[in-house]
Amino acid sequence: MTQHAVVIVGGGPTGLMLAAELALARVDVAIVERRLTQDLAGSRAGGLHSRTIEVLDQRGVVDRFLSEGQVAQVGGFAQIKLDMSDFPTRHPYGLGLWQSHFERILAGWVGELAVPIYRGREVRGFVEDDSGVDIELSAGKGLRAEYLVGCDGGRSLIRKAACIEFPGWDATTSSLIATVEMVEKPELGIHRTAFGIHAFGREEFEIRDGQLIFKDVGPIRVMVPEQHPGPAGEPTLHDLSAALIKVCGTDYGAHSPTFISRFTDMARQAAAYRAGRVLLAGDAAHVHSPVGGQGLNTGVQDAVNLGWKLAQVVKRISPESLLDTYHAERHPVAARVLRNTMAQVALLRTDDRTEALRDAVSELLRMDEPRKRFAARMSGLDIHYDLGQHDRGDHEVSQGLNGPDPVDQRPNSEVHPLLGRRIPDLDLMTATGPLRVFTLLHSARPVLLNIGAPGAFDLTPWAGRVQWVDAKLANAKDVGTWELPALGAVPAPTAVLIRPDGHVAWVGDRDGTCSGLPAALSTWFGPPNGGPAPSRPAS
Ligand SMILES: Cc1cc2nc3c(=O)[nH]c(=O)nc-3n(C[C@H](O)[C@H](O)[C@H](O)COP(=O)(O)OP(=O)(O)OC[C@H]3O[C@@H](n4cnc5c(N)ncnc54)[C@H](O)[C@@H]3O)c2cc1C
Repeated sequence: MTQHAVVIVGGGPTGLMLAAELALARVDVAIVERRLTQDLAGSRAGGLHSRTIEVLDQRGVVDRFLSEGQVAQVGGFAQIKLDMSDFPTRHPYGLGLWQSHFERILAGWVGELAVPIYRGREVRGFVEDDSGVDIELSAGKGLRAEYLVGCDGGRSLIRKAACIEFPGWDATTSSLIATVEMVEKPELGIHRTAFGIHAFGREEFEIRDGQLIFKDVGPIRVMVPEQHPGPAGEPTLHDLSAALIKVCGTDYGAHSPTFISRFTDMARQAAAYRAGRVLLAGDAAHVHSPVGGQGLNTGVQDAVNLGWKLAQVVKRISPESLLDTYHAERHPVAARVLRNTMAQVALLRTDDRTEALRDAVSELLRMDEPRKRFAARMSGLDIHYDLGQHDRGDHEVSQGLNGPDPVDQRPNSEVHPLLGRRIPDLDLMTATGPLRVFTLLHSARPVLLNIGAPGAFDLTPWAGRVQWVDAKLANAKDVGTWELPALGAVPAPTAVLIRPDGHVAWVGDRDGTCSGLPAALSTWFGPPNGGPAPSRPAS
């Protein structure tokens, strides 16, 4: 039986990103993927939001994606546009890039990182024991791993086999999406009728002034609502024609489909992201309507939160309890995504009363403050993990995990607003030359960035685990205050401890003392002097 430290089930966006994170941390990781190639039927997700673009920038691979996609103001709430061009980020926009291209580029990077992918194999089940997990495959010998991660999509076998509950809300709406040829050309674009929203487009497009301009040729992409939510079974061309005739009075002579699928507004979330040695990420952990384009982005960011933690546990740097912070931090993020998509589905109804409500919400979202707040939410730039106590030097991770909404925007006067938020990608000046903060994260290793007096803290007990960088802020505008999305200016810190996922784990006091730093280092990056991480707690 072949062994790996970590086996990931599913080589979609989440599984690929997690594999890259683990490979960067030099963990023996492999993916099992039932598709024979990375090719994807249909185009699915249409792009990336700003925080996902930043996450790829943190790893030094963002240009691969930017060069193949189209940068634009694509953000919106229930299709009400949210311009974020004035946001304090290097990427104040979204990226139009079909999921098929996203996966191809990501898989190319994962290939360079030499992650083995068992293609054309399906995981059929697993058995967990005290030291690992035996994984049963549809073909060939099974695999054994210390940890198994289910990145196997919304119908996740891993979630079901681990007996993890998937509570939520049943579907109230259902739509067909398809790529077909049509005898007559429909009017391209999004249409609102009494039946709901339907749309026609083409695979190839340009974004000009925020508008989609489709190419004149090529198959037609269709989205059309069905009369009743969520019928069972795979949809057919006949179902598509019937739905088009109901809504448009014609099926435009639809024929030769290359892809037909159905999506609903069902919203469900795994009750636990971890059960023993089994973890869930991406659609396996949360499903919801595609409105707002959150699914792929949330999955990729789950992977970036989990990757370094799992690596440290596998390498015995940190205790297994570090993995509980994955659920504690990411479950509330997806719970908020679910509620936001439910709100958007409600606002997209086309009856007169909802149209009136939509007008009112549109008016609100044109105001600066609500626009910034919602754009920060939809772009993922406002995500805030509740790490509050570490700034005060408290050792207990668990105390910070059950606090108020971890993505709540309300600043707590006792802790620095940067704590738990993403580090801005500022320009720095170091002894070896100019540098961007994100460059320090390319290797997915933690960084203690010291902007105060050089060498103010002895990092020796964490040497080899945490990078130390003395730097000055290169731009005068960053001296004194730093600008955060939606929050605005916050006091510039003297030092910050940055986790590999780009979130701030500790903020230096204004007087230059390092209170709380040893506790934060131990909590997130293991005990001092490489002491043994506590072994797995008895269950
Ligand atoms: C119509 C539509 C539009 C969407 N639009 C957007 C959008 O605009 N923006 C956005 O962010 N998201 C969007 N989404 C959602 C997005 O497609 C998903 O959130 C995303 O694909 C989730 O990635 P994942 O890797 O978690 O899961 P998946 O992409 O589902 O990948 C799971 C992988 O696991 C493999 N697998 C499953 N079971 C097994 C098994 N037992 N053994 C081996 N392999 C297995 C599958 O083959 C697959 O490759 C859309 C989805 C749909 C349907």
